[in-house]
Amino acid sequence: MKRVWVAAVLLMLGGCGDKDTETKSSEYVFGTLVDITVRGVSTEKANAAIAELREGFRRMHTDWHAWKPGGELMRLNSACKTGEPVQISDFTLPLIKDAQTYFETSDGLFNAAVGEIVGAWGFHADEPPKGRTPPFDQIDRLAAQHPAMTDVHVDGHTVTCANPAVGLDFGGFAKGAAVDWALHTLKSKGIADAVVSAGGNVGTMGSHGDRPWRIGIRDPKTWGVIASVAVAANESVYTSGNYERFREHDGVRYSHIIDPRTGWPVQHVLSTTVITTDDGSLADAASTALTVAGPDDWPRIAKRMGIDTAMLVDDAGHIYVTPKMAERLIFDGPKPELVVRAVE
Ligand code: AMP
Ligand code: MG
Repeated sequence: MKRVWVAAVLLMLGGCGDKDTETKSSEYVFGTLVDITVRGVSTEKANAAIAELREGFRRMHTDWHAWKPGGELMRLNSACKTGEPVQISDFTLPLIKDAQTYFETSDGLFNAAVGEIVGAWGFHADEPPKGRTPPFDQIDRLAAQHPAMTDVHVDGHTVTCANPAVGLDFGGFAKGAAVDWALHTLKSKGIADAVVSAGGNVGTMGSHGDRPWRIGIRDPKTWGVIASVAVAANESVYTSGNYERFREHDGVRYSHIIDPRTGWPVQHVLSTTVITTDDGSLADAASTALTVAGPDDWPRIAKRMGIDTAMLVDDAGHIYVTPKMAERLIFDGPKPELVVRAVE
């Protein structure tokens, strides 16, 4: 299903409006297809740049993986059990610091330290478990230990955890960080126009010929497109979806987005879309954080995180938008009712 959606996003980019060369490539990272489209340079130049991206993605896949051993994050997570200090490289250190910033600005709702809880729910596996009862006691025990990014101490390159219940999981913003890095790398190679999409989350640079890039936002209920937006240069559009990964037990659906206050999955928000400029990592973290904040609290968290363009869809069918998002949405069919909330 995910692949169908990625294809849908790319189709919305439209056909070539001029003679510019367009080079496309797809890479598999973090269990997601990353699609790269580069315009306006020769195929050779584009392919050389894409080869470099492939190398970087491979390293991220190893070093930022939250459950497959062999990388830097897993080494840190093992050391968290005993409180032993670990040396972390410049490749991974910025993500730890960013995760601390997002923890602070989201009032703890974006909490990359909940990896042990995410794992206990069964989401540290390529496929979530089917048929088994989730280990509710273990989950509640972990949640009662309140793993938090404030338990992770960084001193130069030395990182120490002060709480054995901490497990770092960059799943909530790694796609954004990866796409940002990819765009930055393409830019450093003299490429001005590109779009990089990770599982339907999109970062752009420049334009699509003489038109802006146009991105579809997925309808969490139908797998169709709920609306689309024309994105200006350097904007990122990220959607966090409760439906992306989930397990079912006794007729209840448990999603992979965890409310750190309870250790239990978020229930009422189906998806959240955030648009930012020059910061896909923030858009990714904020879309997850606003999903946790829920239908009442999201405008407050959006304000704290510096987000002015966001949309939430809840399980009652409400579509909440900021005034700026309301101006941006393009509906091909009839326009649904929107609940406009100021960011405050
Ligand atoms: P996203 O699809 O960007 O919303 O990211 C969801 C992923 O983020 C999950 O699969 C977990 O790996 C991780 N995660 C779950 N809950 C949280 C949370 N409250 N804060 C940060 N990361 C989370
Ligand atoms: Mg996210």
